[in-house]
Amino acid sequence: MNWQVVKDLVTYGREQEKLHNKNFRFTLTTNGVLLSDEIMEFCNREMANVVLSVDGRKEVHDFMRPFRKGTGSYDMIMPKFKKFADSRNQQKYYVRGTFTHYNLDFANDVLHLADEGFEQISVEPVVAPATEEYALKESDIPAILAEYDKLAAEMVKREKEGRGFTFFHYMIDLSGGPCVYKRLSGCGSGTEYLAVTPWGDLYPCHQFVGIEKYLMGNVDEGITRPDIVDEFKCCNVYTKEKCRNCFAKFYCSGGCAANSYNFHGTIQDAYDIGCELQRKRVECAIMIKAALADNADKE
Ligand code: SF4
Ligand code: SF4
Repeated sequence: MNWQVVKDLVTYGREQEKLHNKNFRFTLTTNGVLLSDEIMEFCNREMANVVLSVDGRKEVHDFMRPFRKGTGSYDMIMPKFKKFADSRNQQKYYVRGTFTHYNLDFANDVLHLADEGFEQISVEPVVAPATEEYALKESDIPAILAEYDKLAAEMVKREKEGRGFTFFHYMIDLSGGPCVYKRLSGCGSGTEYLAVTPWGDLYPCHQFVGIEKYLMGNVDEGITRPDIVDEFKCCNVYTKEKCRNCFAKFYCSGGCAANSYNFHGTIQDAYDIGCELQRKRVECAIMIKAALADNADKE
C-alpha cells in the first residue's frame, strides 16, 4: 500500500550492504490485491523470497478474506499469483494460507493450490483467542491430525507419480538440517531477529508489537532493554518444561514465543494445540521420507 517505501528501503539497503560488506535478503508478503507487473518485475530483481497469501479453495479464501463490500479477492489474485510464481520459475516463493475451524478439511486447500500449479505451498493453522469463532478448538484436533495424514499420503502418491510439490511444514532434513544452536532456540526472535515498526520501535518480532513490556528500544537509541534480549536468549527447548521430553524438540525448537505469551502470559511455555499439530507434522514428514526412501531402494 506504500510501494514507494518498499522501493526506497531496498535502495537504501543496497547502498548499505556495499558499505558494510553485507548481503541483505529482502522478502515481500502480499495479498495480491495491488500486485502489478511492475511490482512483480521489481520483486524478481530484488526479493530473495515472496509470500503470496491465499487460503486455498475459492470459497474458503473468499469467506475469510472479503473486501469491505463483501465480495472476495480470489478471482482477482489467482491469475496474478500464477503468473508471479511462474515468473520466478516456481522457486523462491510460497503461496501461504491459513486454515481455521471453518475448513478442517484443509488438505483439500493444499491440494487445490497444487492442482492450480503451485509447487511451493504453506498452509498453517490459525492461532486465535478461543473467543473467535474461527479459532481452532481442542475438539478439532482429531480431524486436523487425520487431515495431515491424508495430505502426507497424497503427497507420497504424487511424488511417486512425478508431480510432487513442497509443503513447507513437511520439510525436514534428517541427515543434516539446522545447526544445533538453531535446533535449540528456533526462530531467533529477540536475539538475532527484530521487528521494526513504521515509527521506529524495536520488538522481538512482529507478534510482540504493541506489547509495552517487550519494547526493546528504537532505531535512534538502539537496544535500550538488553534484559529482554537475555530473556529470549534463555528461552529454548531445555528451559521449557513442556519441551524437555518432547520427541519433536530438535525439529520444533521450542515453538513460537509469541503464541506461548498470548496463551500463557510467558514466553517460557508452549501453546498446547500448536504442539499437538507440530508433533503430527514432524511425524508425517518422517513418514514421507521413509516412504520415498523405500521407493528409491526398490528402484
Ligand atoms: S512441540 Fe511443543 S513441547 Fe514439543 S518442542 Fe515444540 S513447543 Fe516444545
Ligand atoms: S511469531 Fe513466533 S515463530 Fe514467528 S518470529 Fe515471532 S516468536 Fe518467532
